[in-house]
Amino acid sequence: MVYTNANRFIVANAKNILESYGVQIAVKNEFASSAIGEVSPFDTWVELWVVRDRDYDMACRILESAISDEHAAPWICKSCNEENDESFEFCWNCGQSAV
Ligand SMILES: [Zn+2]
Repeated sequence: MVYTNANRFIVANAKNILESYGVQIAVKNEFASSAIGEVSPFDTWVELWVVRDRDYDMACRILESAISDEHAAPWICKSCNEENDESFEFCWNCGQSAV
């Protein structure tokens, strides 16, 4: 499995991104809520699986970069001028918030 989320719209979006990179995706649980009447749609997370195992690493990297698009670049701390990785919300050096 490469990705899952409680929100099936986010999962559908992730699937579109991966397919745009040529990764073949299989969707599991997409219709589970309608197939099994007792299961609420919110109990079943839609899961994305890569069809070819060798695509797995690439799929993970694509999703990581797609999901972190909001903070696309490393940032410089206002307080101590250290460079911080894009995924950090606080300065690793002094704890200053990124915003
Ligand atoms: Zn700092």
